[in-house]
Amino acid sequence: MLSFKEAQEKVLECQVYLKTVKVPILESLGRIIASDIVANDFIPSFDNSTADGFAVKYVDIIGADRNYPVKLKLLKDNISAGKIPQIAIESGFAVQIVTGAPVPEGCDCVVMREDTLKEGKDVLIFKECGQGENIRTRGEDIKKGDVMLRAGKKIYPADIAVMAAAGIIEIEIFRPPTVGIISNGDELININEELKESLVRDCNSYSLCAQVIETGSYCKMYGIVGDSKNLIKEKVSEALKNCDMLLISGGVSVGDNDYVREILADIGAEFIFWRVNQHPGKSLAFLTFEEKFIFALPGNPASVMVCFEMYARPLIKRIMGDTKYFKDIMAAKASREYTHESGRTDFVRVSLEEIDGMKYFNSTGIQGSGVLSSMAEADGLAILNEDKSIINKEDYIDVYLIK
Ligand code: AMP
Ligand code: MG
Repeated sequence: MLSFKEAQEKVLECQVYLKTVKVPILESLGRIIASDIVANDFIPSFDNSTADGFAVKYVDIIGADRNYPVKLKLLKDNISAGKIPQIAIESGFAVQIVTGAPVPEGCDCVVMREDTLKEGKDVLIFKECGQGENIRTRGEDIKKGDVMLRAGKKIYPADIAVMAAAGIIEIEIFRPPTVGIISNGDELININEELKESLVRDCNSYSLCAQVIETGSYCKMYGIVGDSKNLIKEKVSEALKNCDMLLISGGVSVGDNDYVREILADIGAEFIFWRVNQHPGKSLAFLTFEEKFIFALPGNPASVMVCFEMYARPLIKRIMGDTKYFKDIMAAKASREYTHESGRTDFVRVSLEEIDGMKYFNSTGIQGSGVLSSMAEADGLAILNEDKSIINKEDYIDVYLIK
């Protein structure tokens, strides 16, 4: 049986096939860029005013202040945004200008309106102004031909703004995988059905789908399939046709009605591993099928969620071209002693608490693989490594933050 680290390594090392797709820029939010994005224009494309005020020559107003204002003759035409000025500034003259309007020829600074006073056909300037002050120059933000955004970068709202400003309407991103989800077991019913004795509502389809959505990739639910070889085969084949990855929960262990591994072998999927020395989620199988991936997960709801975080999530992120495979990890202190089976990695559902500026973790309750309440309450999973079976009170342990 593989150790947790060995199994995770196999997921992180297997060959993935990145696919790209062109999307409108808004749809690229949170995605990873597949090729460099080059600016087609200078941004801004012309020198313009950063303030409402008066366009002047800076030498004309050297020394101006409240006690000794400089008087300039006002040109009649104001300069408004969106129009090319038809005038030029000569020495001794000023023209009123608004924010964003192109500065006229001959102007080398803009005095802010609050530092001026209009007086008939003149304007008094109360403050001197450096050369170029209050003017944004052509290309000061982005230069034509520059790589604005590099391949491999994740897209945030500000990147969308940059692309919009540069007139880029669609870009190539790494296509997030479509992940198919199947739940297996004769005892399973849909969540809207009455819970009669011996039956279990299919929550795995929902937890997995939520986890897939959280990664930013697409989820496709295929519903429940009973413990029948034919039905499993049919559903798996259908899902594999339409998805890049398949997550099946249940039926992967060694029970009499556990057919999933047999069926996957039958259809020609290749086993990378089966079973990992960990709790919860020991009976996990990882397989490839052509360029696709299959995780056959143990049916217990807590196992499913832990296996997704530790194995499926990083693989999905790799396929998306993302380099941040996991959620964050934080070292926190044990608030009591913990023991676990030596040689096995345990993921303990814990909440975090701050005491005197230090983070402590506490178990959120029963840790059975089928227990969901302790999972829902958990801030993270404390990773009790295989090489240490006793964790002493106050020992630092890595906690994988699920929230
Ligand atoms: P199995 O891995 O098929 O042996 O299932 C292990 C346990 O997980 C059993 O108690 C199942 O009833 C339960 N289980 C399997 N699939 C699901 C599911 N989709 N939702 C909730 N519980 C499940
Ligand atoms: Mg079963």
